Amino acid sequence: MLISGASIAGPALAYWLARYGFRPTVVEVAPALRGGGFAVDFRGAAHLEVLQRMGVLDKIRQRRTAGSPMTFIDAQGEQVAAMPPEFAGGDVEILRSELSRILYDHTRPPHAPSAEYLFGDSPTSLTESADGVHVTFEHAEPRTFDLVIGADGLHSTVRRLAFGPEDQFVSHLGYYVAGWDLPITAAPDLAARAVGYNEPGRLATVGRVPRRADDPTYGGETFCVFASERLSHDRRDPQAQRKALTQAYEGAGWRTTELIGTVWDADDLYFDSISRVDIPTWSTGRIALLGDAAYGATVGGMGTGSAIVGAYVLAGELATAAGDHRQAFTRYEEKLRPYVTRCQEGGRGAGEFLAPLTQEALTARNAALNDPATLTAILQEGHEISADISLDDYPSLLNTPTKGNPHP
Ligand SMILES: Cc1cc2nc3c(=O)[nH]c(=O)nc-3n(C[C@H](O)[C@H](O)[C@H](O)COP(=O)(O)OP(=O)(O)OC[C@H]3O[C@@H](n4cnc5c(N)ncnc54)[C@H](O)[C@@H]3O)c2cc1C
Repeated sequence: MLISGASIAGPALAYWLARYGFRPTVVEVAPALRGGGFAVDFRGAAHLEVLQRMGVLDKIRQRRTAGSPMTFIDAQGEQVAAMPPEFAGGDVEILRSELSRILYDHTRPPHAPSAEYLFGDSPTSLTESADGVHVTFEHAEPRTFDLVIGADGLHSTVRRLAFGPEDQFVSHLGYYVAGWDLPITAAPDLAARAVGYNEPGRLATVGRVPRRADDPTYGGETFCVFASERLSHDRRDPQAQRKALTQAYEGAGWRTTELIGTVWDADDLYFDSISRVDIPTWSTGRIALLGDAAYGATVGGMGTGSAIVGAYVLAGELATAAGDHRQAFTRYEEKLRPYVTRCQEGGRGAGEFLAPLTQEALTARNAALNDPATLTAILQEGHEISADISLDDYPSLLNTPTKGNPHP
């Protein structure tokens, strides 16, 4: 079975499939596991339960950040609102790159029979026949796989090849998000504390992010969100992205110009539209989608937890169906779609929450953050939504020799 993408959903699926007796091959376009980047969080019982069943929860806790507390300031640097660590950091927060490494390591002995990885490659065509999917790659020789799973993110290549062009399924939600590491040595006082500066339609944050809760070595990072119609620049061109970002923050107060100026030296810029993926069905024949490729929401949609829960359900249904992929894909979607759709809904308002469009909306957002009862209600709602799925006991199949892959 081929899985495209080795970030979160891909290795999580590979782990479970290998445990159930399948032989997953994972292709990743990057030359190695992607490093750098932002923190992601897990919240609520379902996320934690799946991580526990995988056997990675303790490792994640060992490498957790200290959450993402944030002080919102005005142009003079005075506090106007504060966000507690658990608001963006959930029950446990970890850098996406560290999580990816933990999951990847978990697809190797002694945790699971080894999965095969093809780094620095990408599928270029998928041709389905009665007994498999013939896959051509950018570099590797063509191969035929019984199934292909697209776990290759918001801009999924598998989705484009098998389902159609991206603009049919990915909607721009009116905002862009950008982030890059900011060495403290480059801007010691600017990066010294986690602060966010808002003007209507734009947010610029900078902070010292504890890379690990138990690690006193701090790194600095930036996180920017701004309102914009869909931009026409080349999504893969970092210079064009830097230019678009600089233009978006022209004339902004506080120390925003200085902060945005550091992007020209950053070699790890993340820049993308805040988007949402809606696709009528997650599978076609022997090809299915998982994680952001199927139900992405960029920020605020609990995408990491949904990727982990999705991998658990998809692998479990494939093992239960013992070779009937149609039944497995149908059950996977029936069980998961209502859950992840509710999680995605949280992402719909993320841009407006982080960078409200008017001064009135900004004042109301700050008032909500400063009101403990409102904060508690928002956190509670997130926990309830993320826990609202009943998890079948798929791992018990491991004790049932007749289940699992019929052709290990
Ligand atoms: C700034 C930011 C902050 C976020 N914060 C949070 C948070 O706090 N909590 C949370 O739950 N979620 C958060 N998310 C969302 C979270 O990052 C995603 O939901 C999660 O990473 C989805 O995992 P995935 O494996 O489905 O996709 P991705 O992480 O997008 O990984 C896709 C993988 O596929 C690879 N790939 C792409 N194209 C190809 C190809 N053609 N061939 C082979 N491989 C390919 C990519 O290189 C990548 O490794 C955040 C996202 C952003 C951008």
